[in-house]
Amino acid sequence: MRKPFICGNWKMNKNVAEAETTINDLKDKVAGIDNVEVGICSTALCLTTVKRAAAGSEIVTGAENIYWEDSGAYTGEISAKMLADSEIEYTIIGHSERRQLFGESDYEVNLKVKSALKHGIKPIVCVGETLAERKADQIEAKVNFQVDAALKGLSEDEITDVVIAYEPIWAIGTGETASAEEANRVIALIRENISQSYPEAAKKVRIQYGGSVKPHNVEEIMSQPEIDGALVGGASLEADSFAEMITKTA
Ligand code: PGA
Repeated sequence: MRKPFICGNWKMNKNVAEAETTINDLKDKVAGIDNVEVGICSTALCLTTVKRAAAGSEIVTGAENIYWEDSGAYTGEISAKMLADSEIEYTIIGHSERRQLFGESDYEVNLKVKSALKHGIKPIVCVGETLAERKADQIEAKVNFQVDAALKGLSEDEITDVVIAYEPIWAIGTGETASAEEANRVIALIRENISQSYPEAAKKVRIQYGGSVKPHNVEEIMSQPEIDGALVGGASLEADSFAEMITKTA
């Protein structure tokens, strides 16, 4: 019922020319795959190039961050309204790098999620625990707190359009992953938590795993019943490896 969603997060990588080449390659390699949704989130600078290069394919596009106001004196920011005007479909919100390096709070994440949905942009909300929290047995408390904060004040209908990415912080860019079973367990807990307030939305909301997902482990991760996709950093930068992951999921 939930279509798997494999989404690249290029982070602060690729210039415009590289973005275009990668999408052109990727487009050929994933042509005809229609049982997996394929997305690329890029820097704001590359977004329209990615969008244009992806035209005629099923690849969807996303930003990596937004601000919650529509326009105004917010130097350096882009808004959900601007994404909507450029027909961008998604935006990552609350990635752990933004929370840790740029001090983004759960309150701000919630404002961003609301702004995205207001403009028809689907948010990919990132949650996850640190290694210290994992060792202190606080995984469930941490992720449920972050999810509750991100979804605060949304209607059940709106929640259906949210994608959640469970990304244990210690697994991002480190080559370490939660075991597939462990990722599945936490994702099931997240869904269970959502279902307490939003039983219908909980069945529909897609929950991805992220953190060192690679061609060699994507099948095992995607074979888990609760895992609806992957948010992929490093392995999404090369069209070859990213396409291999999509093909293995399809
Ligand atoms: P990674 O990044 O795949 O390079 O670990 C994942 C992410 O940060 O979304």
